[in-house]
Amino acid sequence: MEIIPFDDRDGTIWLNGEMIPWREAKTHTLSHGLHYASLVFEGERSYNGRIFENEWHTKRLRESGRILDFDLPYSDAEIMEAKRAVLDANGIVDGYVRACAWRGSEMMAVSAQMTKIHMMVAAWDWPSMYDPEAKMKGITLKIADWKRPSRETAPVHAKAAGLYMICTLSKHAAERDGFQDALMLDYRGYVAESTGANVFFLMNDGRVHTPTADCFLNGITRQTVMKMIEGMGYEVVERHIKPEELENVTECFLTGTAAEVTPVSQIGDNHFNPGGFCRTVMDGYTSLVRG
Ligand code: PMP
Repeated sequence: MEIIPFDDRDGTIWLNGEMIPWREAKTHTLSHGLHYASLVFEGERSYNGRIFENEWHTKRLRESGRILDFDLPYSDAEIMEAKRAVLDANGIVDGYVRACAWRGSEMMAVSAQMTKIHMMVAAWDWPSMYDPEAKMKGITLKIADWKRPSRETAPVHAKAAGLYMICTLSKHAAERDGFQDALMLDYRGYVAESTGANVFFLMNDGRVHTPTADCFLNGITRQTVMKMIEGMGYEVVERHIKPEELENVTECFLTGTAAEVTPVSQIGDNHFNPGGFCRTVMDGYTSLVRG
């Protein structure tokens, strides 16, 4: 696979209020965000030139910053304007938008009260390759050894860089064992989420079950899909789910901005057949985001 590094591409990136040539959008090696993970970010998708839930993502970025004890130096309107400018400058219609905010270089120690907050917005083409037949094969998940931490242990509701340390480790371990991703349990042993997406189960009681988002990101896609499925007449139950209950699962899928609705065919030793339910939810989500 040929890799085109993200720092060696053509285009324009918005950095601290200015549109900068892509390769020049740099930050210093001595940045608090880099050394101490004082960085929050968003992953968003543009469909037909329009960012899905643009305002919601903007507010979540601000809230993630607040949780990490800093304020974003731009208004919601300015941030949304920056996203628009980046999509237009790069000619992106169907793409992925990455916005982030981090602490700068004024202080290089644990305390970082005087650091300047930096912000950037970049975007790249990511045509939604909606190939339902390929997706319906489903992906395989290994149960991770790492556990999602409790609310007393980490700022679990922020979309913050530091929380992804165990996600990368879990995903690497899964890939080494021939799986595509990992399913993470929480500190109590309940099913939590995958390394970058939330999880839903159609169980043999005919209802849809999803873990209560009390120690991980309550995804925008998760909340959107829950509402959508309820509108389709399904009963959705949010609760603590034990891994033993995976035996009772008929169909399973992940939800996330990047994952959209991704059917799952295996978790550990449990196998499922993505069927009519996954298909209905996938199709429903596609119409929603493109509507
Ligand atoms: N959990 C994690 C750890 C994630 O990184 C993501 C992707 N942002 C999600 C869940 C899903 O969130 P959303 O639907 O808002 O993209």
